[in-house]
Amino acid sequence: MNVVDGHNDLLLRLWESDVDPVSTVAEGDAERHVDLPRAREGNLAAGFFAVFVPNEEPLPDAVFVPNEEPLPDAVETDEGYRVPSVDPIDQEYAKRVAYEQLELLHRLAHDVDDFRVVTSAADVEDCLAEESPGALGAIPHLEGAEPVARDLSNLDFLAAAGVRSIGPAWSRDNAFADGVPFEYPGHPDAGGGLTDAGRDLVRACEERGILVDCAHLTEQGFRDVAAATDAPLVVSHTAAHALVSHTRNLTDEQLAAVADTGGVVGITFGRDQLRDAAVARSASSANRNASRSGDDADQGADVPLAALVDHVEYVADVAGVEHVALGSDFDGATVPEDVGDVTGLPDVLDALRERGFDEAEVEQVAHGNWLRVLRDWWGE
Ligand SMILES: [Zn+2]
Repeated sequence: MNVVDGHNDLLLRLWESDVDPVSTVAEGDAERHVDLPRAREGNLAAGFFAVFVPNEEPLPDAVFVPNEEPLPDAVETDEGYRVPSVDPIDQEYAKRVAYEQLELLHRLAHDVDDFRVVTSAADVEDCLAEESPGALGAIPHLEGAEPVARDLSNLDFLAAAGVRSIGPAWSRDNAFADGVPFEYPGHPDAGGGLTDAGRDLVRACEERGILVDCAHLTEQGFRDVAAATDAPLVVSHTAAHALVSHTRNLTDEQLAAVADTGGVVGITFGRDQLRDAAVARSASSANRNASRSGDDADQGADVPLAALVDHVEYVADVAGVEHVALGSDFDGATVPEDVGDVTGLPDVLDALRERGFDEAEVEQVAHGNWLRVLRDWWGE
């Protein structure tokens, strides 16, 4: 069954590396989670491809390695960890990086057969309808609105470059919104919401049929988006706070609000947001033991695929199965070893079937719910 996925960071990985992006995507490269041959193997028909601007001065060892812990800058706390907040980034720098990543995306769409930029629900349906091996459709998403000018003067240019989804903030404050810091254990009520410029951005996005994504916003930011628009609430890659008390996860109240608006929650595959407290504690003590004994520390325990299914099931129970989908965070997070990379998507769907989801429900989670919300936001 074909999948529409709520989030990946492949563009960032290609932008920051020296590899040839065209041959890497066309021929495949196991250094990352996503490429065309493996997307076909995993039946990924379309997904949100994030344009993401990293911090201006990344820490020297903050290099992403798939399936290793992606938070090298985390500080251990008594019960878990937190990532210290970073300074806002410069808009001109952000604009340059975002334009370069969009350029890269369009180059891929031109030079890689069957890799497409998709900007309409009909485009997504075309990708879904193809027999395997089919096409891979990329929905351009801006993760953090730093590249957008405060007066929104380049918003139409970004839309013309294909951007059909914007998250006002990543976990880093900007002119439009505060971002929720990464902290475990923690609560999403961890900072301010939208600024006046942020409210203007949300309304301007709604006018243009650009989806607004509440992932990485604080609880206040989420409420502010809900107040600023009548469109369905969307949180592209998150999980259930009742199961794992991570700042990035949604409370039951937020899940209910998503359901009330006809929205959707994409469940992240990121281990940090899926693992329960007991696992995190044992991982952290295992790390301490490993560092004492001088072994190479395995930075954190694996999370079974069942934990991912727990979150899907929980959101289906609390919000309804028509409001839960997938938001893998491939190439942005460490995913369960049972999933591995994009080729693990069929295993995720099989695990849902084994948990008791019937075929119609699996289809909703795999792509139906995303498609409905895209049609609503995009006005098609
Ligand atoms: Zn993210």
